[in-house]
Amino acid sequence: MSRNPLRNIPSVNELLESPPLRRLVDRISHNVVVSTVRNVLDEVRSEVQHAATDMTLPSVSELADRVARRISEAELPPLRPVINATGILLHTNLGRAPLAEEALAEISAVARDYASLEIDLASGRRSRRVVAVEGLLVQLTGAEAALVVNNNSAATMIALAAVAAGREVIVSRGELVEIGGSFRLPDVMAASGAVLREVGTTNKTRASDYQAAINERTAALMLVHPSNYAVVGFTESASLAELVEIGRKHRLPVIHDVGSGAMFDFSQFGFPGEPAAPQSIQTGADLVLFSGDKLLGGPQCGILVGRRSIIEQISKHPLARALRVGKLTLAALSATLRLHRDPERARRAIPLLHLLTTSVENLENRAKRLAPQIAAAPAVAAAEAIASTTFFGGGSLPTQEIATWCVAVQPNEMSVDRLATALRLGTPAVMGRIQQGRLLLDLRSVMPRQDQELVAALGGVTGGS
Ligand SMILES: *Cc1c(COP(=O)(O)O)cnc(C)c1O
Repeated sequence: MSRNPLRNIPSVNELLESPPLRRLVDRISHNVVVSTVRNVLDEVRSEVQHAATDMTLPSVSELADRVARRISEAELPPLRPVINATGILLHTNLGRAPLAEEALAEISAVARDYASLEIDLASGRRSRRVVAVEGLLVQLTGAEAALVVNNNSAATMIALAAVAAGREVIVSRGELVEIGGSFRLPDVMAASGAVLREVGTTNKTRASDYQAAINERTAALMLVHPSNYAVVGFTESASLAELVEIGRKHRLPVIHDVGSGAMFDFSQFGFPGEPAAPQSIQTGADLVLFSGDKLLGGPQCGILVGRRSIIEQISKHPLARALRVGKLTLAALSATLRLHRDPERARRAIPLLHLLTTSVENLENRAKRLAPQIAAAPAVAAAEAIASTTFFGGGSLPTQEIATWCVAVQPNEMSVDRLATALRLGTPAVMGRIQQGRLLLDLRSVMPRQDQELVAALGGVTGGS
């Protein structure tokens, strides 16, 4: 090389003088533009140094474009709305349950202004923050008292710490669950300071096994719903009623982690086997734990309902403040719970329940209407409506298939992975599922108001992206 190509790279000032970047300085900030220009120039310098042969340097206007694109990507919020066309209704990676309009309105009302979070407006005195929803939880579940924390993992952690630190909790070997990687019951138990006393075997645990394990160090009996798996075949487990009987005899509390937090019996929708929180209280559980964003269809939170003395003991534990929820969560939860007072209203207004109970005919009609519209997109070679099955996800009803209809999309001149990526990066982002070389857009988890957005998203995919 006779001359040094690094000398021909434009300076920071040259780039800043280019009209698109001058506009960005005015619109966003001088600092943001300067630091992005520096990063881009550093990259070019390193490209030049590592290039095997002489490379043509990008022009000032190409570099300015690169900087502008980088800045506008960084301006996008990292958390973006997604059209969930995976068919999985409670997709943990997609934030589980979408919220009802009523919940959104309540969040927005208390978010903008100060709120009566810990004030009793009638007396003007300080009150506890969960009072806002405690009454509703008590009314819906039949429990004496309630507490709300950050999620069900937090509910489990604080319950064990407050009730059983330094003492034993008896759990069946068949129920030592792992929920999504970082929640493993034995680890949560260890972190809480409670001592796990496993009884029975993986497939069989009898009431007599719990009975035989009770000693002077026992603090509680715990039953954990196998939310995301099923033990089938030669199996046996103790019922809640049996544990309640043993607990009463030995004056030990029975903790029931029901997981999904159904407020009513889901067998009416054709999905049996999910314990409902009110039934658990009625059967005599002393403390019932569940998530707010699973079958309840509300915001992420963990709900504890049960005996007043136990809830009070838990509320006084130092972790209670560390794990408490803010006004936005309480507002969304309170609106969701108010909808649950009337099961038919809940079914219509809570998106999760609405999606779950949408008729197969409705999905079929929509899939058949959308398929030709989607097939007309330039990036699409063919699209057809097909019947399929999906699952709840999010650790609920693991073995129960849900009937659905999808639009199966075959891309034009690009791989199906490439099409899936382009859709994920669109606005709004769209997530489908790939099956046998096609991208399935499953309408079970798509709200009807999103149908046309789906068509537009496919129409917006360009071959080069
Ligand atoms: C989902 C689940 C949890 C964890 O709840 P998060 O709200 O995700 O923290 C704990 N126990 C059971 C049985 C569950 O199903």
